Amino acid sequence: MANYLRPRELSEALAALASGPHRILAGGTDHFPARVESAPDETLLDISGLAELRGIEVTPRHFRIGAGVTWADLIRAELPACFDGLKLAAREVGGMQIQNAGTIAGNLCNASPAADGLPNLLVLDAAVDLASAEGRRRLPVGEFVAGNRRTLRRPEELVTAILVPRAVEDARSTFLKLGARKYLVISIVMVAACLDVERDRVRSARIAVGACSEVACRLPALEQALAGRALGPSLGAAVEPEHLAPLAPIDDIRASAAYRRQAALVLVRRALDGLGAAW
Ligand SMILES: Cc1cc2nc3c(=O)[nH]c(=O)nc-3n(C[C@H](O)[C@H](O)[C@H](O)COP(=O)(O)OP(=O)(O)OC[C@H]3O[C@@H](n4cnc5c(N)ncnc54)[C@H](O)[C@@H]3O)c2cc1C
Repeated sequence: MANYLRPRELSEALAALASGPHRILAGGTDHFPARVESAPDETLLDISGLAELRGIEVTPRHFRIGAGVTWADLIRAELPACFDGLKLAAREVGGMQIQNAGTIAGNLCNASPAADGLPNLLVLDAAVDLASAEGRRRLPVGEFVAGNRRTLRRPEELVTAILVPRAVEDARSTFLKLGARKYLVISIVMVAACLDVERDRVRSARIAVGACSEVACRLPALEQALAGRALGPSLGAAVEPEHLAPLAPIDDIRASAAYRRQAALVLVRRALDGLGAAW
């Protein structure tokens, strides 16, 4: 028999999680479509009533994106250019109804290989804050997502926020997504890129590709190759096929592995050409 709780205080939510298994529900846009063929038989803990999870806060060291922040909230927020890539992703997550209900934290916790949020959070060097009745801890996003639909969240923990370090504040970012059509589509490949720049040259680069491995991944060899390069509309010419070695794409109904690998190469080059020309 299903049960439903909608606490108003974080302490109540954590007490519920400590008392036994609960399925956390944020916007429900991943949760409900996965259950259309079966009656709910789990206890739902709806966190949408927790005011303290709403809002984006700027602290001395971080941009703190509460776990209740939706894609639409993010689009409306005034944020520096390092968030441009995440905002581009937000505008392509489903339609407006999905963007109004779905949260960035839900996208991360669902840990789909095709989640559009993760590559952007990887290039922002983001971390997640987790809370339980026992205490709090923080994990880098790249560690938190451990596999296809697997995270390091313990059953009694709630993700309370995503943290983006102020250290990346002056960087510029972009995001490109390839699907079978323009809107309402699951990604075949997506690319997030973020550059720190000093005197018309790349000081440091962070590049991540999604939907081409179990978990979206950064491309460290490419990031190193880009350091010190002059900016310009041909920055993407620095990308060699070997730089994509960490990818392990699969054949599925959306695309073959070979197509994904080729598309990733093209998208990474395009993303860098675009960022290189933007300064
Ligand atoms: C029509 C449609 C189109 C979509 N298009 C896209 C798309 O283009 N790109 C894309 O990436 N996704 C897409 N999605 C998937 C989904 O909308 C997003 O992943 C969304 O961000 C999920 O957020 P949510 O708040 O609805 O998560 P929910 O469905 O509420 O939760 C998802 C999972 O995360 C867990 N969870 C949620 N919040 C927390 C928390 N704070 N702490 C711990 N666990 C938590 C839940 O228990 C559940 O397992 C689409 C979905 C639909 C229905």
